[in-house]
Formats: sequence, structure tokens, C-alpha cells
Amino acid sequence: MIQLFIPLNFLGFVYREMRRALTDLENMLGLLKRAPRIVDAPDAEPLQVTAGEIAFKNVAFGYRPERATFTDLSFRVAPGQRLAIVGASGAGKSTIARLLYRFYDVDGGSIAIDGQDIRKVTLGSLRRAIAVVPQDTVLFNTSIRANIAYGNPDAPDEAIDRAITMAHLDGFIAALPDGDNTLVGERGLKVSGGEKQRIAIARVLLKGAPILVFDEATSALDSHAEAAILTAMLEVSSGHTSLVIAHRLSTVVDADQILVLDNGQLVEQGSHHELLQRGGRYAQLWAVQQPEPR
Ligand code: ADP
Ligand code: MG
Repeated sequence: MIQLFIPLNFLGFVYREMRRALTDLENMLGLLKRAPRIVDAPDAEPLQVTAGEIAFKNVAFGYRPERATFTDLSFRVAPGQRLAIVGASGAGKSTIARLLYRFYDVDGGSIAIDGQDIRKVTLGSLRRAIAVVPQDTVLFNTSIRANIAYGNPDAPDEAIDRAITMAHLDGFIAALPDGDNTLVGERGLKVSGGEKQRIAIARVLLKGAPILVFDEATSALDSHAEAAILTAMLEVSSGHTSLVIAHRLSTVVDADQILVLDNGQLVEQGSHHELLQRGGRYAQLWAVQQPEPR
């Protein structure tokens, strides 16, 4: 027994050391972007989204203990509302989305959806309730139809067709050599940034999640493509609680509420109109982003 125990223990030691070395390497390469320690609480229950209210309450969070991103962040998104978050790059906008999706847990305070602390619900149910449109949508080397269905692999054909229509992809697909069987991705047809974001919107439609997050979903697009995607975003998000993260303010004009973040602090909050009247940070940002009069 003892003879067997020692080598195994030693192997365990070697294994742990190797793991640690590997983890350091992964950390160094930035591969461990999401915290691996986020798991279901033993008594986790499925999230029940009844209305779609999101509440951040006194949230404190830092990627590293010595450097806090948020020290005391509170805001509430009423059911079905569109909340925009604006602010300079590095202000903490995407971190809000990552915390809501529970890539990380808060260090203090709480985040709740319809009154349920997200640490107390199952990760699966939480992430099924939230659909995200990222800045750059990744396409797989497969047909455009399979790429769309990625939002919900079990979706019936009619649902996929409906998503294609609602994301205004039907004209684009009809013009392709093999229609929706056309291969896209690195080894297939090159798809423009605007079409990629339409595919992302179709995926979101198919996922059928009550909460939508758009994280700079149009910032890689020119203003013409942006306008078209904004229309699709508005259509898709009606009746949903949505969080629109934007650098460009054109995206947020008609949000119910706008949060202005600066260095992790909430510096202003209100509608576009209210914030312009206030003449503060938002009004400054807005003035800077208007095209020069000729
Ligand atoms: P925004 O989306 O507003 O541009 P982020 O929320 O991505 O900003 O980042 C907020 C702050 O957190 C920045 O200072 C950024 O450098 C830092 N940060 C973001 N992601 C990480 C990470 N994985 N590890 C360490 N710091 C990070
Ligand atoms: Mg960001």
C-alpha cells in the first residue's frame, strides 16, 4: 500500500507542477480569457425569466485584485427596455456584458435577473437566456445556413427561414451561387462585415433568448452598413430587454436609457435628450462625433 501510495503521490506532484507550468503559459498567451472557476452552486436552480429585469447592485469587480475595474456600480434595466452603455475604450463596457454572462463573478455586490442572483442559478440556464452579438462575428467553414443555425442547432427549417428573412439576409442568399448551401468562412465565400452582422442577428433570433446584448455590434462597419444593421437590431430587440454597448453614439440615440461610463464609474445616466440638455460628458462626446459642418 505504502509503496504504491508514494509514487502515485509523487506523480500527482509532478502532474500539478506541470499543470501549473502549463497554466502560467496559458495565462501568458492570454488563452485563459474566461475564469475556469465559474461553476454551478450545489443548490443552483434554473433561472426563471419572467419579465427580463436586470439589476446591478453595488458591483465591485477587478480582473486582478490590485486593480479594480468597478468599485460600486449600480444600475437597473427595466423589463423590455433598451439600455445603452457608452464610454471611451477601456471604460468597462464589455466587462458589464462579461459579468452578466458570468464569465467572471463579482467581488462585491450582486447582479440579478428578475430578482434572482445570477450566482444562484445554473450557468446553462443563465447563458440560454442571453444572446450576444459581438463586434466581429466568427463564421465557420460550412454552409451559410449551418452558420445561421449555429444559434440553435435544433431549429426547424421554418424557423431558420424566418430568421433569414427577419435579418434581411434573403436577398443576399438568393444571389449566392448555391443559395443557402454556399460555403462561407475562411475556405469559402468571403462575406462582408455587414452580412456577417446580419448572420449574427439571425443567430440571435434563432436562439430565442429574452435578453440581448450587442457589444459594439456595428463598430466594424461603415456608416451605410451600420444604418442597415441598426434597423435590424431595433426590430430584433423589440419586446426584449437589451443592452447596447457602443462607442459610436449613432447607435444609442433611441435607447430608453444611456449610461456614460468613465474608468469604471457611472458619470451620467439618462435619455439622449436629457443628456444633451445636461451639457456634460455625453454632450461633449456627441459634439465630437458629429460630422464637421461644411
Ligand atoms: P471597454 O469594453 O469599455 O473598452 P473593457 O470592459 O473591455 O473596456 O475593459 C475594462 C478594463 O479592464 C480595461 O482597463 C481593460 O484593460 C481591463 N481588462 C479587460 N479585460 C481584461 C482581462 N481579461 N484581464 C485583465 N484586464 C482586463
Ligand atoms: Mg469592449
